Amino acid sequence: ADLLALEGIRKSYNVGTPVETEVLHGINVTIHPREFVALMGPSGSGKSTLLNIIGLLDRPTSGRLSIHGEDTTQLSEAALTSLRGHTIGFVFQYHYLISAFTARENVMMPMLLDHGRPDDAMERRADELLDWVDLGKWRNNRALNMSGGQQQRVAIARALAMDPLLVLADEPTGNLDTASADAVFELMRRFNRERGTTFLIVTHNHALADRCNRIIQVVDGRITEDRINLLEGHSQ
Ligand code: ADP
Ligand code: ADP
Repeated sequence: ADLLALEGIRKSYNVGTPVETEVLHGINVTIHPREFVALMGPSGSGKSTLLNIIGLLDRPTSGRLSIHGEDTTQLSEAALTSLRGHTIGFVFQYHYLISAFTARENVMMPMLLDHGRPDDAMERRADELLDWVDLGKWRNNRALNMSGGQQQRVAIARALAMDPLLVLADEPTGNLDTASADAVFELMRRFNRERGTTFLIVTHNHALADRCNRIIQVVDGRITEDRINLLEGHSQ
């Protein structure tokens, strides 16, 4: 089954005011399990708006968004929040870590918000993910003492904490130097290959997009290109 189906998604801002503007003009797209998708397009074309809608952070003005065949557009705020927490992980350009917390505490945060109190299983899960992003030795370091690349790797571990079906990443490497960007991207790619988690990644970096198995281009609120990247992996 499709993991995600968008049908005729439109989004307007400032609805009912003189400056009402439609920024997504009927997006149709289907994302399948295990895909690793690059979302590209010029600044202001609607990529973040689309990611916010897919991530259930914002509602479309019209159209349908289904997750595993279930229409989400009629769900209550509470139901959306619960569905979001259990199915979607987020990575942003800025890491949004809690700087005074340790790496482990940051990764535990989504589990803590879900279960209410810390337990050993959460700690083990956080440590496993920190090992996975190669920060096992840094687990007790506060986020503020870590480099940009390390902070973003903690943010990735945190995004994976609830074992999401889909990770949405909005320019996750945009603030990083080339080597750190490469490392962060490769971690997501490896997690996708080994664990099957689906990723949708906004990037302006063509070299990184070439390592995705599908590339979707958005221009002025419309999908102008959606292609399978047959050469993916062959340039490495
Ligand atoms: P991208 O991520 O591709 O840069 P965005 O989704 O951020 O594009 O923005 C698409 C358009 O929507 C832009 O013209 C932007 O100015 C506008 N926009 C984004 N967020 C808002 C908002 N909260 N209110 C009004 N306009 C917005
Ligand atoms: P990573 O080690 O996660 O790849 P970066 O590539 O972002 O980190 O690191 C950029 C530079 O900062 C590197 O030269 C790295 O050696 C250095 N660095 C790494 N960790 C720290 C830290 N905690 N404080 C200051 N500099 C650091």
